Amino acid sequence: MHIESATQEQLIEWEKELSAHYKKICQHGLNLDITRGKPSAEQLNLSDKLDGILSSDYRTADGTDTRNYGGLVGLNCARELGAEMLQVPVEEVIAGGNSSLTLMYYAVLNGYLFGFAGNTAWRELKAPKFLCPVPGYDRHFTICEQLGIEMINIPMGANGPDMDTVEKLVQEDSDIIGIWCVPKFSNPTGTTYSKETVGRIAQLGLVASPGFRIFWDNAYSVHDFGHPINLTNIRTATLENDTADCVLQFASTSKVTHAGSGVAFVSASQANLNSLKAQMQAMTIGPEKVNQLRHSRFFTEYTSLNEHMRKHASILRPKFKCVLEHLHNALTDAAMGTWEKPEGGYFVSFNTLPGCAKAVVKLAADAGVKLTPAGATFPYGEDPEDNNIRIAPSFPPLEELDTAMSVFVLCVKLASLRKKLD
Ligand code: PLP
Repeated sequence: MHIESATQEQLIEWEKELSAHYKKICQHGLNLDITRGKPSAEQLNLSDKLDGILSSDYRTADGTDTRNYGGLVGLNCARELGAEMLQVPVEEVIAGGNSSLTLMYYAVLNGYLFGFAGNTAWRELKAPKFLCPVPGYDRHFTICEQLGIEMINIPMGANGPDMDTVEKLVQEDSDIIGIWCVPKFSNPTGTTYSKETVGRIAQLGLVASPGFRIFWDNAYSVHDFGHPINLTNIRTATLENDTADCVLQFASTSKVTHAGSGVAFVSASQANLNSLKAQMQAMTIGPEKVNQLRHSRFFTEYTSLNEHMRKHASILRPKFKCVLEHLHNALTDAAMGTWEKPEGGYFVSFNTLPGCAKAVVKLAADAGVKLTPAGATFPYGEDPEDNNIRIAPSFPPLEELDTAMSVFVLCVKLASLRKKLD
């Protein structure tokens, strides 16, 4: 039955039926969690060969003893891995610690405190602002919020952010000093930016204020479920436009090897890298190189990056299939929401009917299924339409995911009917 074509009596009856079913489920004492996009234990197991791979041989090919201090930009062999992930030259990569989010935080802090490449520090501007394609990654927004950087929502479309709005704002307001981009399998919509979008983003530096930076968080660059999707290379595009200083790229092995103990990378022009290095050398004598060497050996001696990612894909595919089947079977005919069908990455972005997301999350929580808080995918936690929910299928075992999704769709139906009857 379609929610819009059902009569008032039918809606009332439908709601009653589902409420009874929901009540029963609440008595099952479920305790399921589809909140954060963490790899499952089965995925983590794929990289267990990291342990012991060095066999007490801690030296790199050039003789560096990785146990010792030094090497601010990381090992060359680790930088090569970052260069492969981001498709950039190795000289433009710094290999850091375990988290690209930390590198992003340092980079925003660098712009804020010191200014990149000799440009005005953002803290000296009247009202520094970032453009935030929405729905987006909550932790990007937290960085801005913590530093008091104002955030402006930019709608995401099928090809990436709404570039007409981005270009207009960047031209009009010189206090706009950054934009967050997750260009491949975007968190949470799964969107990969089109060639045209990447081209237009690469040209922003021609009209933006000189300190403007694109934070190109390519967290899912190699996380295809099937045949790899090509993302246009932002470095090449900025070089063609003479705007290469405007972009900072990030990646990590968090969702490639062990999420909590991987290696993270930042890539940028030499001018930007110099700014970052000046900041970093006050903070550290060098990154954790033993783990960098372990990663390098893992991807040269044990497996290739592509082969390894194919193993992840075969674990993830059935989980995404399960989520999409539940949504399709329960909600398509009822027209109670819309969703994306990602070809990689970690999330399914679901849009309820307007004004229902909070209610769905609450209903699910009361039935023992934890969802990412409604609003988390928007700056300041405020979803103006209250309709976006991020589903993270990767972590729970398939059977748990299956149960969680049957509760989820029931909650979507209930919340939609109650809103309609309100
Ligand atoms: N960037 C995006 C878009 C993410 O979705 C995540 C994790 O979910 C991260 C960065 C975190 O990366 P890292 O583990 O390297 O800090």
